[in-house]
Amino acid sequence: MPVPSSASQVRPGDETRPIPLQMAPRRRGKPPRHFADLTPAERVASVVEAGEKPFRAKQLATHYFTHFTSDPDEMTDLPAASRTALAETMFPPLIRPTKVMEADGGTTVKTLWHLFDDAKVESVLMRYPHRTTLCVSSQAGCGMACPFCATGQLGLTRNLSTAEILEQVRAAFRALDRGEIPGGPARLNNLVFMGMGEPLANYKAIIETVRTLVAPQPDGLGMSARNVTVSTVGLVPAMRKLADEGIPVTLALSLHAPDDDLRSELVPINTRWSVDEAIDAARHYYEVTGRRVSIEYALIKDMNDHGWRADLLGKKLNARGKGWVHVNPIPLNPTPGSIWTASDREVEDEFVARLRGQGIPTTIRDTRGSDIDGACGQLAAEEDDE
Ligand code: SAH
Repeated sequence: MPVPSSASQVRPGDETRPIPLQMAPRRRGKPPRHFADLTPAERVASVVEAGEKPFRAKQLATHYFTHFTSDPDEMTDLPAASRTALAETMFPPLIRPTKVMEADGGTTVKTLWHLFDDAKVESVLMRYPHRTTLCVSSQAGCGMACPFCATGQLGLTRNLSTAEILEQVRAAFRALDRGEIPGGPARLNNLVFMGMGEPLANYKAIIETVRTLVAPQPDGLGMSARNVTVSTVGLVPAMRKLADEGIPVTLALSLHAPDDDLRSELVPINTRWSVDEAIDAARHYYEVTGRRVSIEYALIKDMNDHGWRADLLGKKLNARGKGWVHVNPIPLNPTPGSIWTASDREVEDEFVARLRGQGIPTTIRDTRGSDIDGACGQLAAEEDDE
């Protein structure tokens, strides 16, 4: 289909020099091995290796995954003589909060974490009346180079380990459990891999994280797979692999344009896997798992918000069947130095109406935390010089 050109369209190249795609991180040291990196069987082996009885693994797991603690002083069911040494071996400190920012009366909390090598990541906890959601980082920086995303401008520092991701999750469970977030004690219900990084570019760590998130307590955190969302730029082979894991997590595809011409600029990995290939992989995910896929679409004024693009998106999704997908447009969150802005309200409404007109469930994604640079695409792990 011919792509109409628009004189008013703003191209990414006008604004920034494109940064290169980066699939593999620069070589860096690995974080120390942590209890949360291990499978239940490996935990037992590791405890035995440390000179303890096998059943201590279950006790440690209960402290960590049920009481959300790694503090030996709280582990009074372990022998006093060995619990400090055991906890130090099993729970080396991996992430340290260095800055906490709050919005929405304390129900949105963004935490900046320093990792063992001083790499930095952020996570955002959002409490709503009837649910709680944590947005975690899977990489320090990101190699996907999307020009509208703050993290994309950083380049990739390194992959996070499974335990570095799970420590972000444990901290959220703990804060909610201890009643530190206004609204009384609660559990974490939802987890989205929508913080810094491309989760499917760190496949092994994120799939092990997912296994532990959904394992019943005390082996894991007992979350429901459907409440875990893996969001991807469209790494097609990894999307297909994820479909075969037998864990029906929710998959979100960051599409942002229905045509290759524009998508290759907005999501540079599109030069490797096209719009059609990415949508096919999303459809395949639905077929294998039965989970309805989300299409993410940041509405950028005069860039990707044209009515014909809504029509083309609807057409491409419907060509692959009905009822398998929903679209989540989100008004662009501004990033520092960017000339792009969110689409006007009427344009947004028209975009949504056209998709719904084609029978595609479409809901504007709520954006929280933009006043603390904690909304989608704003995570840059910056620190003020204080
Ligand atoms: N790398 C993954 C997950 C991280 S971003 C991915 O791209 O899917 C989570 C979502 O926020 C993605 O849909 C991403 O495209 C979107 N996003 C990035 N920058 C944004 C911005 N400035 N405004 C709104 N959404 C943005």
